[in-house]
Amino acid sequence: MTETTHAETRIHPGPRRTALVTGASSGIGLAFAERLARDKYDLILVARSRERLEDLAKRLTEAHGHEVEVLPADLTQPAELRRVEERIRGERTLELLVNNAGFGTVGRFAELDPDREEDEIRLNVIALVRLARAALAGFVERGHGSIVNVSSLAAFQPDPFTATYGATKAFVNSFTEALHEELRETGVRVQALCPGFTRTEFQERAGVDTRTVPDFAWMDPGPVVEASLAALRRGDVICVPGATNRGIAAFSRLAPHVLTRRISAAMMRRGLV
Ligand code: NAP
Repeated sequence: MTETTHAETRIHPGPRRTALVTGASSGIGLAFAERLARDKYDLILVARSRERLEDLAKRLTEAHGHEVEVLPADLTQPAELRRVEERIRGERTLELLVNNAGFGTVGRFAELDPDREEDEIRLNVIALVRLARAALAGFVERGHGSIVNVSSLAAFQPDPFTATYGATKAFVNSFTEALHEELRETGVRVQALCPGFTRTEFQERAGVDTRTVPDFAWMDPGPVVEASLAALRRGDVICVPGATNRGIAAFSRLAPHVLTRRISAAMMRRGLV
């Protein structure tokens, strides 16, 4: 067991703390929900699939005895997004927002479905911004609270053949870093969590063939969540989980885009498109 597995993730322990996790029905969001339930948070779980959320809520309530609320919503739909915003504004015990729901599209941009590209921006960017805005007003007023915006290693360079996805995640990093500076001295923390290849439903939903991705490049969602919560306690604004991913991110940050975008294109051409 690592040190972080048992560490208390609550930044401001109190009588009752609530976390809202989007995309909690699978993958990284589900791992956040499980971890936060163990840490005695009450939970509000958001995703489209009501049944999967209800099964998870039942399991977590039985295991930990905390309140777990299911809030099914398609966050690409403005009216449903507004419902979640209102729920956030009304929750005085909200301590943590995990803006995790997201998906990617892969292929030549000129051939991709424009409506799907728009939905990708709605979910990965618009929903994330609106939910952050809904949470921040209360956090700043109360002088505490945290937001984890789930980004990606894709944020660090342009990403040919998954261009919209990479651009949404570059937005998430830029937005989060800017908020981090705005929020200095307020007691509120924000983080962009930038995982690399993680074993979830993401790749299958994106239609990515991952057979050429070596084993060492993969992480499970649990350690990604542990790294995020440890970084939150330290106050790191960018969290890249895993040594391999940190090496890739360091290279992408230092190398010029003309090089990194060529490498990304070559890798995608070879294995994934
Ligand atoms: P995942 O297993 O596919 O989970 C995605 C979650 O988002 C699901 O709970 C899904 O639930 C929810 N979701 C999708 N569309 C939604 C919508 N319109 N409204 C509300 N919820 C929606 O993938 P994951 O890997 O855990 O992805 C989580 C985050 O990690 C994403 O932001 C992704 O970009 C990021 N990420 C993943 C990887 C990776 O390799 N897995 C790498 C870097 C970054 P429903 O289908 O029930 O709505």
